[in-house]
Amino acid sequence: MKSEIIAVGSEMLTPWRQDTNSLYLTEKLNEIGVTVTFKTIVGDRRKDLVSAIRIALGRTDILAITGGLGPTEDDLTREAVAEALSLTLRREATLVAALHARSALLRVPMPTNNLKQADVLEGATVLPNPNGSAPGQWLDTRFAGYRKLILLVPGPPSECQPLFDAECLPRLRAAIPKRAIAKRTLRAAMIPESQADKFLAPIYTAYKDVETTILAHAGDIQLTLLCSKPSATVAQQRVDELAGRMEEALEDWVYSSGGESAESLEQIVLFYLGLRDATLAVAESCTGGMIAERITSVSGSSRSFLGGAVVYSDALKYAFAGVSPELIAQHGAVSAEVAKALAHGIRLRTGATLGLGITGIAGPTGATEDKPVGLVHIAVSDAQKNEATERTFRGDRTRVREFATQQALDLIRRRLM
Ligand code: ATP
Ligand code: MG
Repeated sequence: MKSEIIAVGSEMLTPWRQDTNSLYLTEKLNEIGVTVTFKTIVGDRRKDLVSAIRIALGRTDILAITGGLGPTEDDLTREAVAEALSLTLRREATLVAALHARSALLRVPMPTNNLKQADVLEGATVLPNPNGSAPGQWLDTRFAGYRKLILLVPGPPSECQPLFDAECLPRLRAAIPKRAIAKRTLRAAMIPESQADKFLAPIYTAYKDVETTILAHAGDIQLTLLCSKPSATVAQQRVDELAGRMEEALEDWVYSSGGESAESLEQIVLFYLGLRDATLAVAESCTGGMIAERITSVSGSSRSFLGGAVVYSDALKYAFAGVSPELIAQHGAVSAEVAKALAHGIRLRTGATLGLGITGIAGPTGATEDKPVGLVHIAVSDAQKNEATERTFRGDRTRVREFATQQALDLIRRRLM
């Protein structure tokens, strides 16, 4: 089944406010097997809203409209739906009474404008909104000869979300054909996006009934597979089969292929550390603590993560990781030798099983003739070996640091695997 979302509010056509409700609604709709094919943001202008509603109803089964249900002059959603479908609005006495009771409770006088929140579309069911004054509405109707489900939900996210969960989801579930949804998430680290696509495209294009979305961020690729079928077993089989083939193609780039939501790279690193009864300490220069931050964002990380040092200056590289000034003078602070000395030094000083050292040029300044912006050396040291990896990342300072952090975590993962 197809759905569309219309977010109503001129503020969301400015650079300062974003429509976030539709993200929530999309997630919930997908969970019950409904795809979202269009999203529209419309300002508070009745004519525009009427036209957006008509266009949407011409091509979708389910239309969710969020916002514009309040008491002010520019809240026009009810009126616009009525006009688009040639329906009447009736003022419902029980809602009028509820509005009066609410203002009495809040000890504020009620402007007459408020009463428009008691206007109900012909044939609609009122959806109670315990978190605000404007109720939602549910309309099971026909447009141009076809059945349409129209949902009106309030704009404030704190009202939209609980109202949608409590009032709309059960009604949608009952109204649409029973479908089971299977979901799998796969995550891969440090594989170039073009390469991932080269591997994956021939595979997932053969699974037309599984919806594959790819999210990429600084060395991380997240693949979400969704399949909707009348039978839960069949949906799960399709998703698992495709996930299996993708995992085979991506080999050890895949770090997580769990169930519905995959673990993050830092969670996986901690998982392996725990499995090996190993501990980790880090000496970070160019990432300034970003690696430690990601690891410690996971609850329970204290079991395997000892800590580390941000060793930005040469003096601190010496003081905290024992990297000698001579070594730095000989090879430069950004070098494989210094990365290895950092990894080794922090491991010895902390007694950790594994030491990580990272040094690089995050940019945009600091490049030299033979050392470009984005050059990073990362070393992982344990009792057996101390190996450094050299990478050059492109992009601005934030991107270089994010990539470097991701690469460091992935090198630790690979050492532990
Ligand atoms: P109210 O009864 O509060 O007037 P309403 O349904 O009229 O509710 P709006 O007036 O359109 O809602 O919006 C109220 C608040 O909710 C505003 O702060 C607005 O920025 C926020 N809001 C509205 N729509 C969205 C949306 N799609 N995503 C995120 N925030 C939204
Ligand atoms: Mg509004």
